[in-house]
Order: sequence, then C-alpha cells, then structure tokens
Amino acid sequence: MIIHWIVRPLVDDSIHSSSLESEYVDPLNEGLFVTDLAGSVVTVNATFCRITGYEPSDVLGLHLLEMNSTVQGDGVLEGVWGQLPATGGWQGEVVGRRKNGEVFPEWLSINAVRGNDGDVVGYFGIFHDLSGLQESEQCLSRMAYYDVLTGLPNRHLFNDRLRMALSNVRRSGKRMGLFFIDLDRFKQINDSLGHGVGDELLISVAQRIKSVIREVDTVARLGGDEFSVILPNLKDRQDAALVASKILEACQPAIHIGSHHLLSSPSIGIALFPENGDDESSLLRRADLAMYRAKAEGGNTYRFFEQGDEGDADSLTLETAFRAALKRDELYLVYQPQMAADCTEIVGVEALMRWRHPEFGEVSPNVFIPIAEWTGAITEIGHWVIRAACRQMAEWRDAGIPIHRVAVNISPRQLRAQNFSKIVIDELLASGLPGSALELEITESELMLYPEITLNKLAELRSYGISIAVDDFGTGYSNLARLRALPIDRIKIDRSFVLDIEADVNAQAISSCIVTLAKAMNLEVVAEGVETHGQLEQLVHQGCDLIQGYLFGRPMTPEVLNTWFHEDGAETQR
Ligand code: C2E
Ligand code: CA
Ligand code: CA
Repeated sequence: MIIHWIVRPLVDDSIHSSSLESEYVDPLNEGLFVTDLAGSVVTVNATFCRITGYEPSDVLGLHLLEMNSTVQGDGVLEGVWGQLPATGGWQGEVVGRRKNGEVFPEWLSINAVRGNDGDVVGYFGIFHDLSGLQESEQCLSRMAYYDVLTGLPNRHLFNDRLRMALSNVRRSGKRMGLFFIDLDRFKQINDSLGHGVGDELLISVAQRIKSVIREVDTVARLGGDEFSVILPNLKDRQDAALVASKILEACQPAIHIGSHHLLSSPSIGIALFPENGDDESSLLRRADLAMYRAKAEGGNTYRFFEQGDEGDADSLTLETAFRAALKRDELYLVYQPQMAADCTEIVGVEALMRWRHPEFGEVSPNVFIPIAEWTGAITEIGHWVIRAACRQMAEWRDAGIPIHRVAVNISPRQLRAQNFSKIVIDELLASGLPGSALELEITESELMLYPEITLNKLAELRSYGISIAVDDFGTGYSNLARLRALPIDRIKIDRSFVLDIEADVNAQAISSCIVTLAKAMNLEVVAEGVETHGQLEQLVHQGCDLIQGYLFGRPMTPEVLNTWFHEDGAETQR
C-alpha cells in the first residue's frame, strides 16, 4: 500500500497528486513526502501536514530544499541532495521548520523511487519528529543515573565513574581508593520498623557520608543498604584510613525518625589501586571481601583488603564446584513464557539456566553466572545453553507446540568471543530451526560498551533471521542515538521499573518513556517481572507488546511447560 502510494503519482500521469490524500489511508506515524526527479514535491501524507502545519497545497511543487530547510545553515541537506543520484539514499538527523516558523529535530530518510524499468523516477522521504523523543531521552537518562531515594548516583553512574577514575589513575600513576559500605543491622530495622523508617535512615546516612567526602570523590548507592565511595586521587593508605574514620564518626550520632532513635553503624571495606587489583571487578570484589571481614569483626569499623581474605570466601568453593557442574550434568534450562499483551497466546519463551548442586542445592544464576564470567567458564557453558535451547525449541516445533521463539541470555564475555556468531549460527542450522525461532538477549550496558565490535556480529546473526533483544533496558546508558545505530528488534523493560510501576511515579514515567522511545524506533517492548494485574494493566495501557512474569508463568522445565500448555496456558489467564 505504501509503495503504491509513493510510486503511483510518479509513474501515472493520469493521477492528480492532490487527490491522493482522500484516496489512500495513512497508516504511518511518520511524515512522508514524494518528489519527482528534479526534487519538486508531488505528494505528502496527512502526518506530514500534522507535524509541519503545512497544507498539501502549501508545499506541492516546492523544491525539497525550500520546504525542509536545515536551519543550521550547514548545508547538510543540500549536500545530500547533490549526492542522491549517485548514492540512491541517505538518512540522518536534520532540523526541520514548521509552517509557524518553529524548528524541530527530525530523523529523515530519503530513498530513490524506481519505476518499472528500474530507472529512478523520483525520491521519497520519511521523517520522524524527534522533539518529543529528546525530552523522553533526557528524562530517561536523568532518572536512570540517580537513585530516586537518596539522590546519589546509582550503580550505573557509579560504574561509569569508576571506569573513568581508573583510566585516569592509570595514566597519572596516582593511587585510588574504593570503599564498600554496608550498614550493620539495617535489615532488622527495616523489618521491624517498616520500609518508611528504613528509607529515612538510608537518606540520613547518605547525607552523612556525603558531608565528609570531597567534591572530587563519588559516593553512590549500589542498592539496598550498600554504598560505595570512590577516592580518585589518594596520597597514601593513611589518606584512605582518614576518610573511613570520618565516615564512621559522622554516622555515630543517633538518627531521629519519628519517635525512634536509631543507631546504625557502617562496616567499610577498602581496596586500593594498584596494590589490590587493576580493574573494576577485582577492586570491587576485594573491597566487598574486606567489608565482610569488617562485619565479622563486629562491624562499625573499617578494614583494608588483605591477601588472606580471598581464600576465606565462599566463592572459592563455589568456583571449584562450578567448574565441574557442566561435566556432571548439574546444569539444566527452564523456560518462562512471554505472552502477547492481549493475553491470547504465548509468543515465545526465555531460557534461564539452573544449577542443582548435590550439596548446596539450587544455586541462583545471580550467584553462579558472575563466577562463570570471572573464571571464563561462561564461554563453554554459554555454548551449551545455546545448543540445549535450540534442541528444545526444535522438539517443540516437531511436537506441534505453538511456541514461536526461544530467547537465550548472552553474557558479555561470550559476546566478545571472536567466533560468537559462528557458534550461534552453527547450532541454529544443526537443529534445523529457522532463524526466527531464536532470539538473543544482550544487556543494554554491554551493547553500549563496544557498539562497533558488536555491530558486525549482530548484523550477521540478523541476516539469518535471528532477533536481538536488549535486556535490562533502562538501567544502563540509555543512549538512544547509539542504540539506534544497532540492529535490534525489541527491548525488555527492566524488572525494577515494573516492580514499582503501580506506586512510584518515577518508575511509571521511565517505563512510559521507554515505550515511547521504542515505538519511535519501531522496536517491540517486552515487560518482564510482571506479577500483578495492576502492573499488567499499566503496561498494556502504555503500549507494551509482550508480557513476561510470574503472573502468567514461572520459569518451568520443558515437561511442566508442556502440561501447562495443554491444561492451563493462555486460556485460564484471560
Ligand atoms: P534476567 O535475564 O533479567 O532474567 C529474568 C529474571 O527474572 C529471572 O531470574 C526470572 O526467573 C526472574 N523473573 C521472571 N519473572 C519474574 C517475576 O514476575 N517476579 C520476579 N520476582 N522475578 C521474575 P533468574 O532465572 O534467577 O535469572 C537471573 C539472571 O541470571 C538473569 O536475569 C540473567 O541475567 C542470568 N541468567 C540466567 N540464565 C542465564 C543464561 O543461560 N546465560 C546467561 N548469560 N545469563 C543467565
Ligand atoms: Ca534476560
Ligand atoms: Ca532482564
């Protein structure tokens, strides 16, 4: 229909352009215009008029450059126009002007229109008004970088700052300190006096820590009652000890909340660059281990990391056990349904890994995936997951069970492996599946970190029909301009926003921003972690396409899912 609409006025002289509006419906959210070979506008759609304020009669016959002037005067569009006969198409951001003179940013794509004999007969342009989008983008990044409760940088901004601080000290040859802070007895206070009191306490502690550190230092809330401080240029060890003592001192006085006088002391673990590690994750891990030692010694104190700390940690036993897990068949996959937003059918499933250890019992992937990442085991295990998920999917298809797609989580290290796309494509082909039956979930932060490297891999995978979903969206950099350049199909709103969507206006605003952004980019939106009908209602109202969460189904083994599918399934959920 759209192609028809574009081509007909150019090839069929008998049509009078202005009559087109009524004849053809306007199915798009994008403004559209068609020009002849010389660049004169022959037709525009209704959205064009809505966005620009022009009537068709205002612009028909005008040259493209007169109509859609780039006000920066940088000649972008003139340059593009000159090159069009050679390039055949162009897209990018330009500044448009409405009839009332107002300027607005637009995402414009211009393409050649070819007649039946293959010759270029004109051009058509599609554009999207980005002005609303930029606001959404700004609001998203504001909220995504700061902790709503305390106003401190959140984990994501923290990671960013830590990375920057490290690259600075590496260059300058200075030292850096990293604190991991955890409040003693916070859980008891929170459980016995309620979340309201717990929240007030966190706000006070945040202020107190902030009051004793310097401008150049960063204090962030990592989540719950965990804080971290980055001291980006440290003279010596003594310097770090001094800051830690100041924090302890500032936290000593009782905090008055309502009728309560609360004492909540911190435990502080300190890791130093370069002596305790030279990358983010080893420094964090060691500051964390030192914090546990501080707690073990009674809390309300600080401890520097010492070599001996590492051997004590549980993680070492787990690490050893995990190396054997794959060989001993202790790993298996469970599958969680993703429903269409109208709740009528299961569109796909997400494969989630499980580890059943003979002694430890079920170990959470949140515990063992990071271990697999550190040790490098993730490459082998990740490969196993792709194979197992593809085989299971093929089995479902053979059995006629209407699950269209399986989504597999891909960890950073896996994605960075050079032969990653080959592994995926080989497994897909070996299982006899079409590419559309496989989706890869990659976290937003990973995609943003190395977009150039990732781009080619994703493009290759997508050429096989494999789709790409951005996992945990909203928690990372949320840089739309960079995301736009990547070949992706859908984004998954992080569970943390869904969790609060009924009560917290911030979470509501974030998820609605995400949906707006996604729609403008023609991406589908999946909401995950949906547990209540209230959440479902909000998300559907905002325009989410797919819903995943305990409300519809927990992650299940294939056997359970098969029965669930036959007995319960979509029907009972309506
Ligand atoms: P994720 O990819 O964000 O997966 C979603 C997590 O949310 C899963 O936890 C799922 O069980 C849980 N979930 C789903 N619906 C609900 C709900 O309604 N309420 C609540 N409270 N939780 C819900 P799970 O299975 O523990 O996985 C945790 C994380 O471990 C995953 O987060 C993913 O990052 C990682 N992971 C799991 N399997 C794999 C894997 O095969 N490969 C890789 N690289 N990572 C995996
Ligand atoms: Ca996931
Ligand atoms: Ca997720």
